[in-house]
Amino acid sequence: MKFVLLGPPGAGKGTQAANLSKRYGIPAISTGHIIRQAIEAGTEVGRLAADYIERGQLVPDETVIALVRGRLREPDTQHGYILDGFPRTVAQAEQMEKLGIQVDKVIDIAVEDEVLVERLSGRRECKACGATYHVVYNPPVREGVCDVCGEPLSMRDDDTPDVIRKRLAVYHKQTQPLQAFYRQRGKLYTVNGQEKVEDTTTLVLAAAEE
Ligand code: AMP
Repeated sequence: MKFVLLGPPGAGKGTQAANLSKRYGIPAISTGHIIRQAIEAGTEVGRLAADYIERGQLVPDETVIALVRGRLREPDTQHGYILDGFPRTVAQAEQMEKLGIQVDKVIDIAVEDEVLVERLSGRRECKACGATYHVVYNPPVREGVCDVCGEPLSMRDDDTPDVIRKRLAVYHKQTQPLQAFYRQRGKLYTVNGQEKVEDTTTLVLAAAEE
């Protein structure tokens, strides 16, 4: 199966991508995580992307598409994948179609803006493996330590109130039009992501199997 997880920042895409990955035995690919790793590593792509991320803006389409194409050439994607945070613009989705990057289902996790601001300020991330947590709603077993790989957790630099507001505006303007794009293609499954993590997980897994 080839999934795309759609939804605003803080909707729980990373958490649900991990659930789908476990259920189907296919990799979860987060463009945000790949870009943050490039920034940490100080690569050319990382240097270019840093400026955009800091301002809460989207990294140019060509850069992200090149990263995704590279990742999809790896053998673990042979039986499917979950794309988390890609595509994020209609131009990216159109380019995907042209390149033959397939999508079976787009699961859109719907959450209101007010809830997202609260969620993003409590979010913690493992820089090493990309696992995400929330200090109240989805805490790790040991405070400040990743359950998956044991590395320390940190806040993302773009999870500050100013940048969060900017990212939400960017989402509404540039990413939300993808709902209509995939609805037209009969691929859009919208789930309520507003309740408890377990409830969203149940809805996402049901949509995946539908
Ligand atoms: P995320 O971890 O998905 O919230 O992504 C963090 C940041 O990475 C975004 O605010 C963008 O600056 C950048 N980014 C991630 N995915 C994409 C994409 N598909 N297109 C453009 N920029 C992206």
